[in-house]
Amino acid sequence: MSRKFSRLLVAGAAGFIGSSFVRLLRRERPDTELWALDKLTYAGNPANLAEFENQPGFRFLRGDICDGELVNEIAGQVDAMVNFAAETHVDRSLMDPFAFVNTDVLGAAVLCEAARAHGHGVFLLVSTDEVYGDVPGGRSTEEDPLRPRSPYAASKAGGELIARSYAVSHGLPLLVTRGSNNYGPYQYPEKIIPVHITNAIDDLPLPLYNDRSAVRDYVYVEDHCRAIDLVLHEAPLGEVYNVGTGRETSGNEVAQVVLELLGKPASLIEYVADRPGHDYRYALDTSKLEELGWSPRVDFRTGMERTVRWYQEHQDWWRPLKSGEYWDYYRRNYRPQQADATR
Ligand code: NAD
Repeated sequence: MSRKFSRLLVAGAAGFIGSSFVRLLRRERPDTELWALDKLTYAGNPANLAEFENQPGFRFLRGDICDGELVNEIAGQVDAMVNFAAETHVDRSLMDPFAFVNTDVLGAAVLCEAARAHGHGVFLLVSTDEVYGDVPGGRSTEEDPLRPRSPYAASKAGGELIARSYAVSHGLPLLVTRGSNNYGPYQYPEKIIPVHITNAIDDLPLPLYNDRSAVRDYVYVEDHCRAIDLVLHEAPLGEVYNVGTGRETSGNEVAQVVLELLGKPASLIEYVADRPGHDYRYALDTSKLEELGWSPRVDFRTGMERTVRWYQEHQDWWRPLKSGEYWDYYRRNYRPQQADATR
């Protein structure tokens, strides 16, 4: 099986993973015209797509996936849609859950409705391993129940369930990917890896939640995008695919690697009050995706070397993002352990 698209809508294309996906498709599938839809929230950045501006075969549209009229109009002019658009930061979802419910659930429903109305051949929803919740032992398979534990994860699971209901009730040709934690260039500096890299460059403390046992499976963003590309073009309709590397990495190890690559002292590590409802472990069984023909190409060390170098060389990209609202959020979120004890 191999699908071809003449015009594809990439929603959430100005974010971290969406823009990486656009980069991959422009390079590998130049015959597919791409329309990029993005609301440009604080996490969306036109600079992430600047290289494609005025390029034939690429068009940027500013708009909200919750806007049914707009989405319907666009859906009538494309063959298929891939949705990256979401509110994505767990810590922010603890402070403002409604933005997550709105975009990640209602927005997904609006896209499903438009895909159905226009008889699209595929609708691919980019989801996350966080929908499985905390995984103390073993590895999550695609058949496991969804047990989300943060408003972010619950909203993503809600979007998946709406999409699944469209597949069952209306025959929506749905594909879902559940990726593990991504890292790489262009990641907004609120997620742990770019927080650590950009803080270390500036000799600022590297915050680590004080329960040191949390582990994540970090997949290099381009590997994740290759998996989405493979699923979009080759997977049987109706299937769900986990995307991850199988390597378990603690926050402590992230900090150590960053400090080592930048030649900074371990004294920069600062333990902060733990996140409420913290999932301590995610772990994916990725055999289904491997059977489809995917394996990660970039190991953690190589990916971190590339990522650290990118942030060192692109300070003009991230410095303007670390200002104003960013620091308000940052101070609300990271409370040094000592302050926590005296609350
Ligand atoms: P991001 O926060 O960097 O980007 C999200 C993008 O969506 C931004 O450009 C933002 O402007 C846009 N957006 C937000 N609300 C919108 C709306 N209502 N309408 C249109 N655009 C809107 O996120 P990311 O890390 O690139 O994640 C992309 C997708 O991948 C998300 O669906 C996320 O759940 C999923 N995912 C992320 C990770 C990760 O580690 N970052 C892992 C697995 C899955």
